[in-house]
Amino acid sequence: MARKYNDAATLLYNTISTGLADVASLFGTTSASQATTTCEKLRHQLGPSLIIIVAAEVAEIVVVLVDDDVLFAIRSGGHSPMPFDASIDFGVCISLENLYKVSYDADTELASLGSGARWGAVYTELDKYNVTVVGGRIMDVGVGGLTLESGLSYLIDLYGLVCDNVVNYEISNLVSTDNTGGSNNFGFVTRFDTKTYSLVECWGGIQVFTPDQTPALLKAFHAYQTAPNKDPCANMIINLVPINGTTMLTFVYLKPVERPAAFAPFYALTPVFEQTGFLTLHQLMALFPLAPLPRLTCADSVRAGRASNGGVENALGLQAVDQTWWSVSVSWGDAADDAAASMADKIGAAAAAAGAKLDYIFMNDAYSNQSVIASYGEINVRRLRDVQKVYDSDLVF
Ligand SMILES: Cc1cc2nc3c(=O)[nH]c(=O)nc-3n(C[C@H](O)[C@H](O)[C@H](O)COP(=O)(O)OP(=O)(O)OC[C@H]3O[C@@H](n4cnc5c(N)ncnc54)[C@H](O)[C@@H]3O)c2cc1C
Repeated sequence: MARKYNDAATLLYNTISTGLADVASLFGTTSASQATTTCEKLRHQLGPSLIIIVAAEVAEIVVVLVDDDVLFAIRSGGHSPMPFDASIDFGVCISLENLYKVSYDADTELASLGSGARWGAVYTELDKYNVTVVGGRIMDVGVGGLTLESGLSYLIDLYGLVCDNVVNYEISNLVSTDNTGGSNNFGFVTRFDTKTYSLVECWGGIQVFTPDQTPALLKAFHAYQTAPNKDPCANMIINLVPINGTTMLTFVYLKPVERPAAFAPFYALTPVFEQTGFLTLHQLMALFPLAPLPRLTCADSVRAGRASNGGVENALGLQAVDQTWWSVSVSWGDAADDAAASMADKIGAAAAAAGAKLDYIFMNDAYSNQSVIASYGEINVRRLRDVQKVYDSDLVF
C-alpha cells in the first residue's frame, strides 16, 4: 500500500510540475521526494496523504488518480462537518479553493461562480451591480458544496432552492443543466452559472430574549409558522441556545419595510438586546456569525423552484406543502454517550405519529448515516442515476 501512495505522489508531482504547473500546485511540497516523504509521514495519521490545490483544469489529475487506483476526495469551502465528506484517509484531497472567480454578465443577467468561491466574495462582487443570487446565508461557506447539495437561502420562497437557480453546471469540461441534489456523484463541478436578482434594501436584524420568555417565544413561533398565508419576503430563524437558555431571533425581510406585519406574533415580547434596521441583504447576512437553526420553508419555495426551472421539478422530491426543516446541531466526545443521541429519532417518531412526517432529508445539514438521496423517492433516484450514466459512466465518483 505504501508503495502505491508514494508512487502516486511522485507521479502526480511529476505530472503537475511538467504538464500542469500553471494550473495546479501541491500543497506543502516542493519536490517529488518531498511529496513522497510527506505521504510517508502522513500515512500514520488520519487524513489525506496529499492535498492538491487546483487552479484550473482538474480532468488530467483525475485521470492520473483513476489510472493509479488512488482514492480521492473533493473539497470546495470545506464546511461540511461530516468526517470524510470533503476529505479522505490515505488518499488525495483535491481542493478547489483556487477556483474562486466570480463574474456577472449584464446581458444574460447570469453570474458565473467558481466552485471554490465563498458566498461573502460572491456577494461582494455582485454588490457592484446591485444584484444578488440565491445563495448561502453564512459568508464563509463554499459555493460548491452548498449548491450541489441543494442549498437553502433567504430567497427560497421567492425563487426556489439555490440549485433551482443554476442554469449551467460546468462539470470538468462538460456543461450540464441537471445536477440538482447530486452532490459529488457526477464529477467535479468547476463553475456554476446562476440567475441573478436585483435586491437592494431589506429590513431585519436580531433580538435576544431571556430564558423566562422561551415558552412565549415558542408560542409566537408556532403562530408565525402556521400563518395561513406566509409572506414570501419574510424569513425568521429561532436559535434556542442551550448554554445559557437565551433565545435569539433573526429577522430578514426582503423589502425595506420596518417591523412588517409578518413578524407580528413576536412584537408583544420584549427583547433584552436588539439590533435591527435597514441594510442590504449582504450586510444583514454578514451580521450573523452562527449557523442559523432550524430551517424553515413553505409551499411557495417548492413552487418557486419549479417556476425558476421553467416548470420542471428538481430531483429532490419536495412536496408543495408548508413544512419545517429542523436540524439538531450537537457533538459529544465519548462513544459511550452515543445511545443518548436519539433526539432525532424521537422527533421523527413524534412527527410520524402525528401524521406530519415528510420523507425528504436536506443534504446540506444531514448526518453521514442518513440516506439522503433515497429520501428523494424512487423516480428521482432513477433520474439521478441516468444523469450519472452520462457524466460518470465508470462510476469513479
Ligand atoms: C456555518 C455553516 C453555515 C451554513 N449555512 C448554510 C446555509 O445558509 N444554507 C445551506 O443550504 N447550507 C448551509 N450550511 C451547510 C452547507 O451547505 C454544507 O455544509 C456544504 O457542504 C458546505 O459547502 P462547502 O463547499 O463549504 O463544502 P465542502 O465541505 O467543501 O464540500 C461538501 C461536499 O460537497 C462536495 N463538493 C464540494 N465541491 C464540489 C465540486 N465542485 N464538485 C463535486 N463535489 C463537490 C464535497 O466532496 C463534499 O462531499 C452551512 C454549514 C455551516 C458549517
